[in-house]
Amino acid sequence: MDLLKKPLIIAGPCSAESERQVMDTATGLIGTADIFRAGLWKPRTRPGCFEGVGSAGLPWLQRVKKETGMPVATEVANRSHLIAALEAGVDMIWLGARTTTSPFAVQEIADTLTELKPDISVLVKNPMSPDTALWAGAIERLRLAGVRSIGAVLRGFGAFGGSAYRNHPHWRISFELRSLYPEIPLICDPSHIGGQRNLIEPLIRQALQLRFDGLIVESHCNPEAALSDSAQQITPERLKEILEDVKFGTSITDDSSADLEALREEIDALDYELVNLLARRMDIAERIAAYKKENGLTVMQPQRYSRLLENRVRQGIPLGLDPAFMKRLFSNIHEESVRRQLENQ
Ligand code: PEP
Ligand code: MN
Repeated sequence: MDLLKKPLIIAGPCSAESERQVMDTATGLIGTADIFRAGLWKPRTRPGCFEGVGSAGLPWLQRVKKETGMPVATEVANRSHLIAALEAGVDMIWLGARTTTSPFAVQEIADTLTELKPDISVLVKNPMSPDTALWAGAIERLRLAGVRSIGAVLRGFGAFGGSAYRNHPHWRISFELRSLYPEIPLICDPSHIGGQRNLIEPLIRQALQLRFDGLIVESHCNPEAALSDSAQQITPERLKEILEDVKFGTSITDDSSADLEALREEIDALDYELVNLLARRMDIAERIAAYKKENGLTVMQPQRYSRLLENRVRQGIPLGLDPAFMKRLFSNIHEESVRRQLENQ
């Protein structure tokens, strides 16, 4: 299967629920989706939620393939799911966020692919926590197993209540992955990032701006009645409308004008100064470390830490600097300063 088609649009319900729901959704997606997705084995956070129809849904996917011509994809979390999916002729599999988090599970799937079908396409969703190395590790395991057709899916990261999103995107992690594997298509999952229907369109617009190569979107013929992830699913018609409005995958150019170049030069010059300033700040931290050592003071001085953060945040407000950003920035700078001081104790 060609994962390199741009943009690659994968769509279908969170879960396959019935033959009727699968067929109605797939029929609605003809002409919009390149690949049909449906979860059969659903990794639910808590028991008692709808856990998927399991292998009973495989014949429905076979029917989608036969009647619509779309290749079909499903999530596998262990060897037995994978064997069942391969036997049914599933064209693409994906590793869910919880599976990518577990190197044992990834290895088991990678080994089974080597044994049975290394030429299948595999999508690797990001792990639950914002850890680029864990995501890259899963990709490496598949590569070592001989899998060649791999895509990476950004579905966001556990937000612990601190985000407007169900799963915070942390776009930076996807930039890091892209620089490790520039040849691997990067696909955005606005459904699991957003968690709500009204966030799908703005997230698709952002993904377009951030040069994602494709999308995986949850689409259901009757989203309100969906047995899983009801709030984030959209109808096939709505997906079509969004993609037409947003023109995902079109009008991308790498041309940059002289004006843009001039602005970039300004930024480069400022960053140069910032780096020098940071180095000077760290030098002073080391002098402070020496002083603390001589005078029997501990490295961490909790009051100083809170005052420093408060002051920097306050200074930034009238300058239009976001308080949350300033807090993150200065706690990072302070953390590095503490690390240096500890090295010098
Ligand atoms: C899904 O795509 O339905 C799914 C369960 O995804 P994730 O692993 O991203 O939660
Ligand atoms: Mn889902």
